[in-house]
Amino acid sequence: MTLPPVAFVGLGAIGAPMAAHLAEGGRLTVWNRTRVVAERFAARHQAMVAATPRDAAAAGELVLTCLPTSREVEAVLDGPDGLLAGFRRGALLIDCTSGDPASSRRIAARLAERGVGFVDAPVSGGTNGAEAGTLAVMVGGEAGAFDRARPVLERFGRRIEHVGPVGAGHALKSVNNALLAVNILAAGEGLAALVKAGVPAATALEVVNASSGRSFVTETLIPERVLTGAWPVTFRLALLAKDVGIARGVLRERGVEGPLLDQAGELLDRARATLGEAADYLEPIRLIERQAGVEIRG
Ligand code: NDP
Repeated sequence: MTLPPVAFVGLGAIGAPMAAHLAEGGRLTVWNRTRVVAERFAARHQAMVAATPRDAAAAGELVLTCLPTSREVEAVLDGPDGLLAGFRRGALLIDCTSGDPASSRRIAARLAERGVGFVDAPVSGGTNGAEAGTLAVMVGGEAGAFDRARPVLERFGRRIEHVGPVGAGHALKSVNNALLAVNILAAGEGLAALVKAGVPAATALEVVNASSGRSFVTETLIPERVLTGAWPVTFRLALLAKDVGIARGVLRERGVEGPLLDQAGELLDRARATLGEAADYLEPIRLIERQAGVEIRG
């Protein structure tokens, strides 16, 4: 099926491979803050480059954003060159940022005044999943808006779920990533102690992965990235720390105490301050290794 005209804003680590699938599906216009990134993408995937977010919105019936946080999404909406200045009535904004629910509700209300629809549609599955077109997409919004977004989301997603009203996708995504963060920290701490106790890291992981403590972190991330010493940068620690912060906000908003997530959030914020904005999300394990005086290698 050919897609209606689509625009994509934010060609970062995950946005670019997502947008590449849309280029295969029909007419695609892209905008990126650093223009050369958009130009390189357009040359490779036969897309058009918009000079401003406003031009991108004017070119697309469906407009996707994939930016670090909801703050940047709100920033590209405003101003004479912002998305709001370019949207046609009846357009739909599909926000694939891992954003925060309160901002999404605010954005949806502003767009509704201009006859523009909104869904929050954050993704999970990493850059590999984006390249393979196998992402999970969790969508918040009205049923009609979800139906319109679905054919676009199917281009890069395998599991596409309508999970509730506007903001529900972002809430679910933040809780998912909070679970990921807890698993990373707990696995790092436990493995450091086991290696010091004389258990080889690879053996420890094999046994955990045949037992009840296994997770995506122990089955895939640590074997592929930590044991090998590869430490690729695919998802910035700063973004995971942001997600845990959003999850803590969701708990607070709903009156749920979250001492475990509070602790995980504080540990990630501290790791981010030590390791910097470019560090990968698994690198807190390096800090655990450093403190323990041990390396977790296979
Ligand atoms: P990156 O940091 O790789 O890319 C961020 C993108 O946002 C770039 O295109 C950047 O443009 C743009 N940007 C940053 N600040 C601004 C701004 N002020 N105004 C306009 N554009 C801006 O992030 P990712 O692609 O990794 O992540 C994007 C979203 O997807 C995040 O919410 C993240 O949590 C989520 N996500 C990421 C995953 C991953 O594996 N990487 C997995 C699942 C979700 P420029 O080129 O100019 O820097």
